[in-house]
Amino acid sequence: MESTDANLCKHPPLLISAMRALVLSDIHGNLAALETVLERTRGEYDELWCLGDIVGYGPKPDECVALIMERAAFCVPGNHDLAVLGKLDTAHFNDMARQAILWTRSVLSPAHSNYLTQLDPVPVRKPELELMATHGSPRDPVSEYLSDLCVAKENWQLFSEKFCLVGHTHLPDIFRLWLRPAPPRAKTAQVALVEQLRAVPGQEVQLQPQAEHRVILNPGSVGQPRDKNYRAAYAILDTEHMIWGYDRTDYPVELTQGQMREARLPQVLIDRLSYGW
Ligand code: ZN
Repeated sequence: MESTDANLCKHPPLLISAMRALVLSDIHGNLAALETVLERTRGEYDELWCLGDIVGYGPKPDECVALIMERAAFCVPGNHDLAVLGKLDTAHFNDMARQAILWTRSVLSPAHSNYLTQLDPVPVRKPELELMATHGSPRDPVSEYLSDLCVAKENWQLFSEKFCLVGHTHLPDIFRLWLRPAPPRAKTAQVALVEQLRAVPGQEVQLQPQAEHRVILNPGSVGQPRDKNYRAAYAILDTEHMIWGYDRTDYPVELTQGQMREARLPQVLIDRLSYGW
């Protein structure tokens, strides 16, 4: 845990209302993973929220966009979604990601392309839940990786909500910030304590054990996990009980890999799904 001087948070009184949201990110055209997560969480949530990168890398972009179109209360676009549309230069991507983006662009139906086009690349804000949601970070909603304490600290000052949901890193991280009264003779009235945790599958995280607590939450990736665990990642945010219910599920990886072979997607992208990197 680190401490740093800050006058970061001047909240209005709590307005949190009750809601259970299934939070999904980085599906990346992996239909078998998405369908498995939806089946496993059926009946456990009120709304589905998508943090972007529905497409890219995986073999079933149309089917994944169709499911999100039908079921998500909101979706923010990710960098791969925008690159497929030609709104982000593919020079920002490595060769294999670029090949998958170009393939996705060649197969994606006009209706699904239209859906991605109307997704606004700015954070979604829900004042009644004191929550914001974005793909990358509050500072750069499309491309910044919110992956360490340094970046988290810089981003705290750019939002005031209690909860900030992010994706993009494909890693199920939690960043917490508490404000405490500063010691005598300190230059500021409060000091901020910041920590980074890696969520553990199946272990619920209590989000608000005390007042003046803010948190950045990443549900990990449905379709291409990168924490050496191949299982599809997802989380259910319960704003009534203040619980982050992060978990993983087995899914038929070989089915997705076979579909990728048929689509002639790069072998490295096929192999990495088995290992979760
Ligand atoms: Zn992604």
